[in-house]
Amino acid sequence: MVVQMENRITGTRLSTWQKLRRHFREAFSEQFEYHRHDGELTADGRAGRKRGRDAYRYILLLLVAVLAPMFIHDLYTGQALLSVISFVLLTILLANIWLLRGDRQAFLSPTLLLVLAISLILLAVALGQRYSIYWMYPLLAGLPVLLRSRRSLVIGLASGALALPIVLTRFDTSSAVMLGFSMMVTWLVSAWLVFAVTEQSRRLKDMAITDPLTGVYNRRYLEEQARGAIDSWQRYRHTSTMLLVDVDFFKRINDRYGHNMGDVAIKQLVQVISGRIRAVDTLCRFGGEEFVVLLRETGIDSAARIAEELRRLVESAKILPEGSMTISIGVAEVIAAENLEHWFKLADSALYMAKRNGRNRVEAARGVVDRAPVAKTVPDWR
Ligand code: GH3
Ligand code: MG
Ligand code: MG
Repeated sequence: MVVQMENRITGTRLSTWQKLRRHFREAFSEQFEYHRHDGELTADGRAGRKRGRDAYRYILLLLVAVLAPMFIHDLYTGQALLSVISFVLLTILLANIWLLRGDRQAFLSPTLLLVLAISLILLAVALGQRYSIYWMYPLLAGLPVLLRSRRSLVIGLASGALALPIVLTRFDTSSAVMLGFSMMVTWLVSAWLVFAVTEQSRRLKDMAITDPLTGVYNRRYLEEQARGAIDSWQRYRHTSTMLLVDVDFFKRINDRYGHNMGDVAIKQLVQVISGRIRAVDTLCRFGGEEFVVLLRETGIDSAARIAEELRRLVESAKILPEGSMTISIGVAEVIAAENLEHWFKLADSALYMAKRNGRNRVEAARGVVDRAPVAKTVPDWR
């Protein structure tokens, strides 16, 4: 998350190797990095479970597609033992598909079923059905797609280790080498395709939730997160507080230093704010020179203290060539909000108060929280 936040701000690109490492790290933890925000956990947990069930169903369907023709073939050739085993496995598969369709728990893990199916194929080869080895290809190609986890690797390696002695004794050396090699390539190509598709969808999702100028999250993402925070308050009484940040006299900054310099000032403001907040907090560009910081598990008093610290940091950062750029902040806690629009409105009215009371100050939706002078401040760069 921290790395991602840094990348968001500095815009540095990850190398393919870094992406690959992140991909496998996430695949093994079965979780995207930007899904670690608290607010998403509830919605995400549900979505995650559904994804898990769907993936399981696809594994089962793939196994049916492989085992059904095997069963028919074994029946046709009169292989009693193989027919019985594949029949039992098919019955288990279909029962599990039926259970999952009804939104119920399946009774065998996908890993175990895959291992059983691979063992059955290898048993068929060991019993003399050498051509059954080709059933391994669809399973190997499907593994990375379906099991984005450590298990995929373990099953791939375990089935390779299991297959090796059987393939070596049943085929001549050059065929065995070719089979082993082509199976490995099948697995690798499939794993690479899964990686490419995952990266592509990550890029698209990133683009959809990122502000192009500053690299922080955009309003769309903020709304998603703020809804999560409201849910989390209404369901679990976990509070969150929103800081609405607006640059003081920004029109004049643009007029005086030009629009480009204005953009640079906005980017520097982002650097200052993101350097202070925690990784669990969300900084979003609300629009123009307005930003929202969503502070998780933070009540209005601590949030107001953080806001005051941000205000002071920005003032002392000397962002402008000739002096300080200042910000005003409106603070509103989720407890007071009826819904998302109301929460934004509360923060906005606090911000309005801060502007009216002289700018370069923090105002909470329930009253004044800092001791800044009420008189209108004249910026030192004017
Ligand atoms: P106040 O203290 O009342 O906030 O005064 P202000 O001049 O900052 O007023 P306001 O917030 O309404 O004005 C925002 C201005 O910011 C309007 C627009 O010219 C400028 N602005 C908005 N987006 C951008 C941007 O992306 N880049 C630059 N350079 N300027 C922007
Ligand atoms: Mg504004
Ligand atoms: Mg402004």
